[in-house]
Amino acid sequence: MDSLRAYLDRFVADTLDRCTRCGRCYDACPMTPYARELDGASPPAVVEGLLPLLQGAPGSTEAVAWVKVCTQSATCIDACPEGINAMLMLRAARMGALGSLGGEAQMSSTEDPLFFRKIEAFAATQLTPDEIEQWHRASPGERSAS
Ligand code: SF4
Repeated sequence: MDSLRAYLDRFVADTLDRCTRCGRCYDACPMTPYARELDGASPPAVVEGLLPLLQGAPGSTEAVAWVKVCTQSATCIDACPEGINAMLMLRAARMGALGSLGGEAQMSSTEDPLFFRKIEAFAATQLTPDEIEQWHRASPGERSAS
C-alpha cells in the first residue's frame, strides 16, 4: 500500500510529464486578481514557475503568490485539457513552497494556518483508512523525509 509521499511522487511525475504549460488552469482561477504580484502575469509563465515547487525546488515569485491565494475553488480542475488535477497540483506546490518536500521554504506556514487541516482533508479523500493511520503515526520529519 502506498504512503502519502509515494502517492504524491507519482502524481508529481505524471504532472511534470503531461502538463503542457498551457496556463488554462491559471486562467480559470478566480483568485488571481487578489495577488498584486500576479498583475499582468503570463499564465503559461506562472505555471512554468510553479512546476519546480512540486519537486521541492524554488518556484517563481508569481507562482508562490498564486499558491498563497489558492482557496481550492476547484475551477482549475475542469479547465485542464490534459485531465490533470490542477487543484492537487497547487496543493503539492504549496507543500514545496512551505519546504515540506525537502527544499528551501519560500513561504511560512503562518501564511497558511489551515495547511495541515487541508492536508488531512486531502488525505481523507485520497487514502485508505490504513494509509491515513500510517500518516498519523509518522512524525513531521518522517513525512518530509519519507
Ligand atoms: S491546464 Fe493542465 S496542462 Fe495546462 S498548465 Fe494547467 S495543469 Fe498544465
